[in-house]
Amino acid sequence: MPNALTKNIEKNVPISAEPIVKYRNVTKSFGDHHVLKGIDLEIHPGEKIAIIGPSGSGKTTIIRMLMTLEEPSSGDIVVNGKNLWKMEKKGQLVKANEKHLREVRGDIGMVFQHFNLFPHMTILENCMAAPIHVKKENKDEVRERSIKMLERVGLGDKLNFYPSQLSGGQKQRVAMARALVMRPKIMLFDEVTSALDPELVGEVLEVIRDIAQNDDMAMVLVTHEMEFALDIADRVLFLDQGVIVEQGTAYEVLVDSKNERVQSFLKRFR
Ligand code: ADP
Repeated sequence: MPNALTKNIEKNVPISAEPIVKYRNVTKSFGDHHVLKGIDLEIHPGEKIAIIGPSGSGKTTIIRMLMTLEEPSSGDIVVNGKNLWKMEKKGQLVKANEKHLREVRGDIGMVFQHFNLFPHMTILENCMAAPIHVKKENKDEVRERSIKMLERVGLGDKLNFYPSQLSGGQKQRVAMARALVMRPKIMLFDEVTSALDPELVGEVLEVIRDIAQNDDMAMVLVTHEMEFALDIADRVLFLDQGVIVEQGTAYEVLVDSKNERVQSFLKRFR
């Protein structure tokens, strides 16, 4: 089974490539609920990472922090060599300046469980909104790129449909096209198939598989689709009660783990 490094060699990404993201001893509490208890994590260019673990273990919180939707309680998160937040010696959390935060958000695409499309816009307008209004890109270029992306996810014949006219699987494919139009360096997928009827899951996984196989961006997937993770992930992290209990290649964690907590969790999916 190829690991992250051999796969990166195949893609001609140097092994020494600096991680684009580093979490160092990141914790998060909501009140006295300690949700993350010291997360260390590096994401390299092009790497495909799956985060698995029981519900409530903190998986979503980890990726929401990268999108700056949640602040850590302590620790550092570094993106492209710059801190998003940094703990000063006095224990104070200092946030990066708005310009850097905007750059980071521009480099990261996120797809949510509940699609989060704009209901009053057509799906083409949904895809065009952020590149035009946030990145101030040329409208005609963005339109062309958006149409290509919607065609890529199989919705080229529905450009002027509104989200309410689409199935859940189609809405999720729009959400992916919308994220891809921003040309992110990292794509975050937060349980993107969990809210779908079972018969619609396959079409969404196919789009993710297509991105994983054909695009160079790094991907972090929070997922309960174990077969799928085994198939596409370079590295799998098992999170339990706010701690990364085990990590390794997809094979090491999903097939060959000796860890009892991992084994007992995976039994539910067999
Ligand atoms: P997972 O993705 O593994 O299911 P989450 O990261 O969504 O876990 O949540 C971890 C824990 O943090 C859960 O107990 C959840 O209820 C709690 N939590 C998440 N977000 C908030 C919030 N904004 N306020 C309070 N508690 C939260």
